[in-house]
Amino acid sequence: MSQATSEPAGVERVPCPLCKGLQDEPWAEENGFHCVRCRGCGLLFVNPRPRAESIDQGVQLGVHTVESTALHVVGARSAWKIPMFKKVLSDMFPEFSQGDRPVRWLDVGAGFGELLESLKDVVPAGSVCEGIEPMIPKAEDCRRRGLAVRTSYLADVKERYDIVSIIDVFSHVPDFAAFLAEIKGVLHSRGEVFIKTGNGADIGPRGVLPDPLTLPDHLVFGGREHLRRFLDEAGFDMVSMSAHRMDGFRHTVRNVVKKLVGKPVCLGLPYTSPARVLYIRARLRAAS
Ligand SMILES: [Zn+2]
Repeated sequence: MSQATSEPAGVERVPCPLCKGLQDEPWAEENGFHCVRCRGCGLLFVNPRPRAESIDQGVQLGVHTVESTALHVVGARSAWKIPMFKKVLSDMFPEFSQGDRPVRWLDVGAGFGELLESLKDVVPAGSVCEGIEPMIPKAEDCRRRGLAVRTSYLADVKERYDIVSIIDVFSHVPDFAAFLAEIKGVLHSRGEVFIKTGNGADIGPRGVLPDPLTLPDHLVFGGREHLRRFLDEAGFDMVSMSAHRMDGFRHTVRNVVKKLVGKPVCLGLPYTSPARVLYIRARLRAAS
């Protein structure tokens, strides 16, 4: 790892989290942090990056409190996500509606529990769906609504699962390869991961991506091939991937409001952005 002595305290220069390349070029700046594009593989990542000790384990699991920039990202339950998740899950796990065997599912970084709420109506009868969420207010909110969510970290999980989901977690994880290795540790053989993330690295210049980057809360932005490569190198085979627009009329109106209050959004006409939400289902390769 290269480390320039001229970097300010609290940050360090890092190689590309995917290809380990040291050559990168500027892509965007936000909240005083720089997001660069790897010249080797095209991955986008924050560089220099907050030092590991300042990226606590909660951040690695996709939840955040207050960064040095006073960026406060707690959020709130988003009920609108539930019908969306149900549709995507039904499409990507078609065997669930065909009398498949029960599954054990762990949602890592369960947030306010929208995915777990959605799963209840999708998984085969007898399935167990649990979540872990290290941010106490979020986990408590889940439990108040009857969801099996522990205030816990992935490293503390002792049980084994058929499927681990990571919803909007990828961009918060500084070392996704190591994170996938940790996920493998709680999966049965031939277990699966289900990922939701954006395709930021697929879309060209920053101005094409409507939403704020939320640096340094978000540390990495991948694209289809970056996700595929991370998974392949960790021993997962892609089962299916689906891509969904995020720039409908409602989204555009919301971004106009954000722009008016000074948020770093990039405005465009509805239904014109190449930005997509990616859903990925991948299965552990059979041991050779
Ligand atoms: Zn790279």
